[in-house]
Amino acid sequence: MTLPYLEPLTLKEPAGLTIPEPPRRGEEGGEPCFPCAPDARDHAIWADDLWSLHNPGQTGLAGSVWLTSRAHFDSFADMPEEYAATLGAVAGKVERAVSSLGDVGRVHVYRWGEGGAHFHLWFVPRPLGRLDMAGPFLPVWEDAQPLVAKDEIEAVGQKIAAAMDA
Ligand SMILES: [Zn+2]
Repeated sequence: MTLPYLEPLTLKEPAGLTIPEPPRRGEEGGEPCFPCAPDARDHAIWADDLWSLHNPGQTGLAGSVWLTSRAHFDSFADMPEEYAATLGAVAGKVERAVSSLGDVGRVHVYRWGEGGAHFHLWFVPRPLGRLDMAGPFLPVWEDAQPLVAKDEIEAVGQKIAAAMDA
């Protein structure tokens, strides 16, 4: 496991506790929920009756996409049955679509839910051969890469969408 920084890194003291934690997007008192916005589906690159797939606003790794539910729920713990029953198949479809871009070593899947309270999964391609990016620091590497141009994000998103329908 490596980081995109030279060593030695310095361990810092943990921050103080923030309790109660501030509301996330989509929680009472928080910012509006993006996937629940009336025009959210207009921004999807692919959708079916339950799920929609979206390009990132910005990324350092072309091919990163996020999958979200049409219904508002937070996580696996409160996932309605029809979503639980279809998540594995749709996640497999996204993984195959991202892999089909080529030069993808592995597709990482992340669920954090720290910013928004509406269920979403990130699919992030680890470039083929970039073993220094393998493991849990891929998002740190992603942040350290030059930003992919918006045109390229959209072009790659179209390829992923086409592969979803193939
Ligand atoms: Zn929502």
